[in-house]
Amino acid sequence: MITRRINESQIAKARKLIEHAEKIVTVCHTGPDGDAVGSSLAAVHVFSSLGKEIRAIVPDAPLENLRSLPGARELVDAMRYPDFARQLVEEADLILCLDFNQTSRTGRFADTLAAAKAPKILIDHHLNPDMDAEVIISHPDMAATCYLLFRFLCRLELFGFIDRNAAECLLAGMMTDTGNFAYNCSDPELFTVTAELVKKGADKEKLYNLLFNTLSANCIRLNSYALLKKMEIFPEQSAALITLSRDELNRFHYTKGDTEGLVNRPLAIPGIVYSCFMRQESDCIRVSMRSKGDFPVNKICEEHFNGGGHLNAAGGEFKGDLEEAAKAFRALLDTNKELYLHK
Ligand code: 5GP
Ligand code: MN
Repeated sequence: MITRRINESQIAKARKLIEHAEKIVTVCHTGPDGDAVGSSLAAVHVFSSLGKEIRAIVPDAPLENLRSLPGARELVDAMRYPDFARQLVEEADLILCLDFNQTSRTGRFADTLAAAKAPKILIDHHLNPDMDAEVIISHPDMAATCYLLFRFLCRLELFGFIDRNAAECLLAGMMTDTGNFAYNCSDPELFTVTAELVKKGADKEKLYNLLFNTLSANCIRLNSYALLKKMEIFPEQSAALITLSRDELNRFHYTKGDTEGLVNRPLAIPGIVYSCFMRQESDCIRVSMRSKGDFPVNKICEEHFNGGGHLNAAGGEFKGDLEEAAKAFRALLDTNKELYLHK
């Protein structure tokens, strides 16, 4: 059906750890997205039907729309219930680390995770994993952790335990990380897996509406304002910049997630290959970058915005005010000319 991609020795080690574990917890990254929540909940559905006691911990609250995924009410928000989350980790026989590559990506939960005694299995698709884990299943070539998790479960011969709820959660992650199959989709087996999940009852149309087409009026107005009034285009450098200050965000009653996807919009303009969005937060400027082709936004975020990420999707932060951050971005457009030459 699908080709084998996960190394057999990792599967064998993981199988042993799972067999011996009664209590399992899953952990994902801060600001949990559809892939982080989807993989965590899918693991809960599958391993609880195998008879394991399993809980999914999120370092902080996921976006509102993800809270209607099957099982999401049972998520343990470590920001709200730090003691309970710590107790779960201390009592666990096994920790599944899903959709992150470094302990620091779990934010304030990182110390608890680092201090955990239980063995860890990392299942992730971010570049350069740097984790202290007994088993590391890292496949940056795969579009989503949920896709990798499906493969992992099949290799453990747990395909039959993927019920409709698990299938819906796995598909949610795959849809999230491919923008509803718009990018990172060159692997044909992604569609084979999607077909299997749909056969198991995952409702793709419902998920599309939940993940991509559920927006508040304020959110639609904020994004429209940002594009109409705040998008700067730099045709010479094939770049675009959008900034939103605290005041502007407040005017539209901004809530977490309202600007999700905004950074991608300028890339729709022919000739624009590099887009940056800066949002003023209480203590820093949050920077988000996207690009097309081989323009390395991860390099720019690493070198100038204390962050990182993938070639075409990266993020970081800037300490200072919004105008300074925008100035720094414009200055980079001037100094980084060689980066734009190949286009
Ligand atoms: P977003 O723009 O959606 O916040 O982030 C896009 C991608 O960039 C994320 O999936 C993540 O891989 C990476 N990323 C975002 N923020 C950071 C950061 O502060 N540090 C690092 N290392 N990667 C980040
Ligand atoms: Mn992911």
